[in-house]
Amino acid sequence: MINESDLDAWEYYNSKTLNDYQSEALRTKAYPDDKRIIYPVGLLTEEAGEVAGKLNKYHRDGTWDRDGMIKEMGDVMWALAALASDLNVSLEEVADRNIKKLRDRQKRGKIAGSGDNR
Ligand SMILES: [Mg+2]
Repeated sequence: MINESDLDAWEYYNSKTLNDYQSEALRTKAYPDDKRIIYPVGLLTEEAGEVAGKLNKYHRDGTWDRDGMIKEMGDVMWALAALASDLNVSLEEVADRNIKKLRDRQKRGKIAGSGDNR
């Protein structure tokens, strides 16, 4: 049964934007200014590997660590938010441009296949 707390959580999560997330994430940023860009790029790669690791453990052990996967995807988001910030780009711009690109490819029947400039 849905209760008041569920509704509050629903409202909270649905009122958050990617830019809200990016602002909050940046408050936890702890790498030095002279490591801008390079640190989050390295972290993004590392955390993407941890996402892959969760999937590998599922294939090896047959147990799905949903909570662990969500945490690792969150780490990927944090690294992306930090990288975008270091490049003066908002996460909403990244998301908007990505969706526009994908919709355009879909419209032209180019959603499958490979290549950056389809
Ligand atoms: Mg991690």
